[in-house]
Amino acid sequence: MPRYVIDEAALVRNLEVLKDVQARTGAKIILAQKAFSCTAVYPLCARYLAGTTASSLFEAMHAKRHFPGEVHVFNPAFAPEEIDAVLAEVDHIVFNSVRQLDLYAAKAQAAGVSVGLRVNPETSVATTPAYDACRPGSRFGVTRAALEAAGGLPTTVDGLHFHALCEQGVEEFRKVLGGFESHFGDLVDGRAWVNFGGGHHITRLGYDVDGLCATLTDFAVRHPGVQIYLEPGEAVALNAGTLESRILEIQPRGPDGIANVILDASAACHMPDVLEMPYTPPMAGSVKGTAGPYVYRFGGPTCLAGDEIGTYSFDHPLAEGDAIVFGDMAIYTMVKNNTFNGINLPDIVVRRLDGSEELVRRFGYDDFAMRL
Ligand SMILES: *Cc1c(COP(=O)(O)O)cnc(C)c1O
Repeated sequence: MPRYVIDEAALVRNLEVLKDVQARTGAKIILAQKAFSCTAVYPLCARYLAGTTASSLFEAMHAKRHFPGEVHVFNPAFAPEEIDAVLAEVDHIVFNSVRQLDLYAAKAQAAGVSVGLRVNPETSVATTPAYDACRPGSRFGVTRAALEAAGGLPTTVDGLHFHALCEQGVEEFRKVLGGFESHFGDLVDGRAWVNFGGGHHITRLGYDVDGLCATLTDFAVRHPGVQIYLEPGEAVALNAGTLESRILEIQPRGPDGIANVILDASAACHMPDVLEMPYTPPMAGSVKGTAGPYVYRFGGPTCLAGDEIGTYSFDHPLAEGDAIVFGDMAIYTMVKNNTFNGINLPDIVVRRLDGSEELVRRFGYDDFAMRL
């Protein structure tokens, strides 16, 4: 049975970096739960982070129940039958349009919830359109022109929010921040807070943490009294978990010299971003591609022809039953997996700081059947 193994020591290495950024800049960093909602390590994360952000009622409920700290929420359009329930869970809410503000801002204020507006900095830096919230025709955030056409910034707005990065560094952040300030800079002073979104790859090897701190401090000095938030998802749990799987069968080598390997783990079910992004995940003990002497193409146990994880080379032959370990599998995996083909979900295991392993969740037929 495959298993996700979340490594608390690796998580702490990331969290220490994020704590340091907060201490040096006064910015608050909150976890974007959509990337990583692993309840078993929420108490650990809460010792380092100021809180969480949610994309839905259920994520907001999850935060309120398991993660001490602030709870923020953003949704491109809140449903009328859910808004009261959402407001009962959060202390900050970010609306995506002036229309949404008109509908719900007064209600939010009455509930004691701080109101934000997502703006569109109209500065594209993302490398693929699927992850570019500033792409032409984007449904995310109010442009300055749209805000003016709607009569300007309503007085109900306590904070401004943008999110336009994806796995990016300080240079891209500075570009987007420049776009934000050129369009909305005159609206920052007098606000209680600004939120510079996620996509900051702060814990990646080689990320310019000093540059980030300098940029945040510079903004804070120019806009005193305005609390800065960052809400990364990836950066919190980057490289903090693996997906361990096993070889079920190795097929004879094809005319291309590559042998198909069938694993008990599936890209489609257990690491959907491999197909959606798409990308080839790191695998322990191998190199990507066909350069080595023993080349294998890894696929899942589903009937989807495209359920291929990638082609990897080894310096030794593989055998049935061998363990295959994929890296960087804490983020955007457990939150996105599914039981397509009736394939069971991997166990969730936490490797605690003392090295012990704790099985926190095992799935079965009922988890498949209950949704159908
Ligand atoms: C996805 C998202 C995040 C987190 O993005 P990461 O790339 O995981 O850091 C933060 N805020 C918003 C609004 C998002 O949509």
